[in-house]
Amino acid sequence: MKSTTEDQNQVIVISHLNHYFGQGQIKQQVLFDINLQVKSGEIVLMTGPSGSGKTTLLTLIGALRSPHDGSVKILGKELWGASSQELVEARKSNGYIFQAHNLHRSLTAMQNVAMGLEVHGNFDKTTIHEKSMAMLEEVGLSERMSYYPDSLSGGQKQRVAIARALVSRPSLVLADEPTAALDSKSGRDVVDLMQKLAREQKTTIILVTHDSRILDIADRIVSLEDGRLIKG
Ligand code: ADP
Ligand code: MG
Repeated sequence: MKSTTEDQNQVIVISHLNHYFGQGQIKQQVLFDINLQVKSGEIVLMTGPSGSGKTTLLTLIGALRSPHDGSVKILGKELWGASSQELVEARKSNGYIFQAHNLHRSLTAMQNVAMGLEVHGNFDKTTIHEKSMAMLEEVGLSERMSYYPDSLSGGQKQRVAIARALVSRPSLVLADEPTAALDSKSGRDVVDLMQKLAREQKTTIILVTHDSRILDIADRIVSLEDGRLIKG
């Protein structure tokens, strides 16, 4: 039997997960018997062809949708059968970074990062301001804090998105092809930054990527093919 300490170390425990889209005649299974365990502080890269189910799996881990069958335990909480309120709660432990940065165009860099804390609802204005400023400094953008996304480069926007995802010090960071829209230098900078911050904060990272130039940041690489997980 495994020791309790070892189990407590697992941030993600997925067992026999299946997932489907559509209903009736058009019901299509997109994930098949997924089993995956990820430990605290681990950086796991997920690769696989387009349409293999990477985003679906990431959104299930991120509590952005509910698992159909099987078990998805995140930080000890079972997401299968969870209420929508419980899913909202579970999302608060996550930082989500999308392929397109998804920043609000009408908000400055600073205000976008602050949103990463405002959703938690338990920080006062001064704390939000201080933490957001410190985080923008960590990603090297103190001088751009009053800029709107349209005046930032692709790499800078993605660094703001990283700052927004990490400002609340989440235990788990989920990144869906975060370098896809970037040139190789900016892409490299972005993942180096994620790795550095993860190491400092002991964050667990699941990073979906097609980008073979960043595979070296991984502690482990897993790949999906036609909805099935193939361990690397
Ligand atoms: P990947 O991220 O690896 O490209 P996805 O998880 O986005 O793959 O998609 C996996 C499969 O599920 C694909 O066949 C896709 O067409 C299908 N799919 C994804 N999202 C939906 C949805 N909202 N409704 C129906 N089918 C979907
Ligand atoms: Mg995808």
